[in-house]
Amino acid sequence: MIPDSAEPARLPGGETMNATTHAIFGVGALTGAALLTGMEPPLYAYPVAVVAAWLPDVDNPRSTLGNGLSRQKNAALNAVTRPVSWALRTSSFFLVRVVGHRTLTHSLLGLALFALVAWLLLGGYPNLFLALVVGAGSHIVADSLNTWGVPLLWPLKIQFRLLPGGVRSGGAAEFVVALVVLGLTAYALFEVHPALRGLLGLLQPL
Ligand SMILES: [Zn+2]
Repeated sequence: MIPDSAEPARLPGGETMNATTHAIFGVGALTGAALLTGMEPPLYAYPVAVVAAWLPDVDNPRSTLGNGLSRQKNAALNAVTRPVSWALRTSSFFLVRVVGHRTLTHSLLGLALFALVAWLLLGGYPNLFLALVVGAGSHIVADSLNTWGVPLLWPLKIQFRLLPGGVRSGGAAEFVVALVVLGLTAYALFEVHPALRGLLGLLQPL
């Protein structure tokens, strides 16, 4: 990590990794954690990790979750998503007004608080707990790769970046980073779920 004491002067706007990159990092983090802990997460843990990987940007009203997933075309689906959408928009509004964008939700303090709440609510479900915490953590790691960095020690106003200069969001470098993580994730997935290898074997010509 490279601390950068120069406080950025404006809001990052587009300076955040895109939703696909975060989704890949979320799945990658869960698979990596499974590899390290010897756990074999059930299938449903992966979408949970993806949603958790989007959660820290809920403080950005323009993010996937911050705008409340409001553009559903299906009316029935809309009825179900409306309360969730309302809750997401409210937390988005609250967070951006009280602590500002990319502050608490992108810090170790925020991650610890999130882990505490997740443990209190879902401590009995280790797979879900793991998916939520590593998913949210992966978001901070992904954002620490980009030019803006993350305020890891918030409320201390020090930006941290994993790479000098950082990767511009939406650029070719982000695509390459996402591709590398995708490759590593695919490898780890086959290690964690040996059944997948069998599946691949079926696809290969004899
Ligand atoms: Zn972010």
